This record gives sequence, C-alpha cells and structure tokens, in this order.
Amino acid sequence: MAKNGVFAMALQQLDSAAKRLKVDESWLTVLRHPERELTVSCPVEMDDGSIHVFTGHRVQHSSARGPCKGGIRFHPSVTLDEVKALSMWMTWKCAVVKIPYGGAKGGIQVDVTKLSTPEIRRLTRRYTAAIMPIIGPRRDIPAPDVNTNSETMGWIMDTVSMLQGSTVLDIVTGKAIDLGGSLGRREATGRGVMFNTLELLKRLDKTALETTVAVQGFGNVGSVSADLLQKQGCKIVAVSDLSGAYYNPDGLPISEMIDYCLKSPNHYLQGFDSGGISRISNKELLELDVDVLVPAALEKQITEDNVENIRARAIVEGANGPTTPDAEKILVGKGKYVVPDILANSGGVVVSYFEWVQSIQAFFWDEDAVNRNLERVMIESFADVWNLAQKKKVDLRNAAMMIAVDRVANALAERGIFP
Ligand code: GLU
Repeated sequence: MAKNGVFAMALQQLDSAAKRLKVDESWLTVLRHPERELTVSCPVEMDDGSIHVFTGHRVQHSSARGPCKGGIRFHPSVTLDEVKALSMWMTWKCAVVKIPYGGAKGGIQVDVTKLSTPEIRRLTRRYTAAIMPIIGPRRDIPAPDVNTNSETMGWIMDTVSMLQGSTVLDIVTGKAIDLGGSLGRREATGRGVMFNTLELLKRLDKTALETTVAVQGFGNVGSVSADLLQKQGCKIVAVSDLSGAYYNPDGLPISEMIDYCLKSPNHYLQGFDSGGISRISNKELLELDVDVLVPAALEKQITEDNVENIRARAIVEGANGPTTPDAEKILVGKGKYVVPDILANSGGVVVSYFEWVQSIQAFFWDEDAVNRNLERVMIESFADVWNLAQKKKVDLRNAAMMIAVDRVANALAERGIFP
C-alpha cells in the first residue's frame, strides 16, 4: 500500500468513523480489505499497426449489501491504490443512500487525449473482455466515471452481449437512452450536488440568490452542477478545466460555456470569452472568497498545502476524495462545512440504480419520475447525515461514514462469515 496513497486516506476516514461506532472490530477488519482486486493487461492494436499494452484494474470492495457497483475511469494517473480507494468509497456511497449495492471501481491507465476514438473503442472492448469473469448484472455493474460516458458504456454492453450471445441491458448503467439508459442519468450526479447544496443552504439559513459558487472541473459533474445551481439562483463566479480557470465576480454564462465545450476540441473551455471574464489559475479558483466551493475534478485537491488559504464557507464534494483527512480537520475546526463525496456526489449512482431497475423490468420511467425519486433520496439522505452530525456532534463526513459503515457491518454480521 502506498503510504500517502489514496487508499491510506480512505482507511483513515474509515478508522475515524469506526472509533465513534459500536461495531465489532472483526467486521471492520473485513471492511479494510477489498474482496477482490483484478489487474489486467490490455494489448491494443493502434491505428498505425503497432501494439500498445495498457494496464487496467477492477476492484470489488464489498458485496455485503448487494452486487458491486461503480464506475470505470480512463486517466493517466490511475493506479491499483486509487481504484481500491474509489471502490471502498462506492461501498459507503451506496450504503449512505440505502441502495442495495456494494462497491466497486475500475480504471485504465491511459491518456485518452492521445488516442483516436477507434483506439479507445478497441481498448474498452479488450478491457471489458478481460474483466468479464468478474462482472455481471447480479455481480458487479460498471458505470461512467472520469473520461468515460454513455458511448463507452455502449461498447461495454455490446462486448458482453456479443461474447454471451444475447443482449444484456443490465450489465452497465449510464448507457445511451436508445440502449436502455435512464432519462436523467447524465445529469444525475450534478443534480445530486445541486440538491445537497440547497439542503445545506437551508440549514445555514441562506438562500440560493445570496450564494456565490466556484466549481473546479467542467466535465459531466462540474458543468451540470454549475448549470443547475445557477438555475436555482446561485451566482457561479468561477469554473475551471484543464485549460485553466475562468472568473467573473458578476457570474459566468454557464449554458453558453457548456455549448462552447460541446463544440471545442477535447471539449475544453480553451479560448472561451464573453467579456468580464478574467483568467485565473486552478489554485486561485480553489482559494476564492465564495460561499460554496464544488471540487468536481480529481482526488486530493484540498490538502495540508493549501487548506489555510481556502476561504469558501462550505465545500460540496462533486469529485471523489478531493479533501484529505488532515485538511478536512482544519476546515471543520474553522467552522466550515464539508458535504462529503459519498453523499454529495451520490446522485449518479442513485440514478444508476434506477436505470438498473428499469433495465431489469424493461419498463422505463419518464424523466420527471427519475428526478422526483432522486430528489427524495437526496433530501432524506442529507437529513439523516445532518441530524446524526448534530446529535453526535461530529462533522458531516464522520456522520455519513458512521451511517454507511454501520449499515455495511450489520449486513456482514447478519450474513456471517462463509463457510
Ligand atoms: N462513477 C460514479 C461515482 O463515482 C457513478 C457510479 C455508478 O453509477 O455506478 O459515483
């Protein structure tokens, strides 16, 4: 285990919640170990005829509460340590919102900007074939994550279907609507971030209209969060992507920026201008004096190195693992709120669950039904976490983790140890 790796950070969060729970140590020991870790080599024929071997992983942390569930990311920084942490966070995420899944995650170490679409497609198909022995609609159901989307899910679903000889709709979630995807799934993580932010603002006696927001990351999570929060009346003063950060104290034209990205190479904001915008660095964005900061990019963005400069009153974690435990202690000590990833960004997996249910039943809901059910789950889950935090005088992450770990440990205890 990498000493300062992301998995160490996930274990630190588990230990912190465990200290406050009356859970038998044996179950915690079980939960410190992912159930299954698979590393695969994926040889791919590149467009120029050469062969390149990519490394991928799929980790199943826990199936105590149901089939494992979690996304697949394509990123140069993917490691087994990271995928293990992300799979553990999926276990807690599914438990805190009470959907009947365990946690998993997958990833391939690859810079997708250097590959053509056919190369990415061949890589996805080869990786799918390699992890096929351990995935399945009742075993482990992948979904999109960083740099993967409905197109990627379509390739995975087709690969499994071809190898199996029949169409398997419930093998992945986050599929295109024409392939049995769910209405509202693409926006679900950002919509969940929006609901969580509104619930927090209510508790702080603040309205959306008097709230300023900065969003780090303008991918599926960041862009939709910014858009929906703006539609609720918040002022989005800054957003960023790999091309840098864009700042306007009077508010940014988010829908225009989303349209711009759709048409630009690699879907970046590079070159966007609409007057009144100044360019700032990603570091400056994180340190802006705003009411709410939504880190919606990668892990470890708020660390001991920059935490003293963070001026946002609240942090709503759109990404998984953006705040290190040591940094979080300092934020909480200053009276700031951190809505933890396992709650803040759980909207995606909640609607993944709705999609899976629809795929199994081959009966599809209208978008309003999806969004209403998501809103209900988010409001109830936020209230559970907030109320426990008040009752036990702990921060929101410890409260969310206490609820989640307790549920998973109870499931383990009720099942007992095999054989
Ligand atoms: N990748 C998303 C997450 O981190 C969604 C997972 C899913 O829908 O299974 O929560």
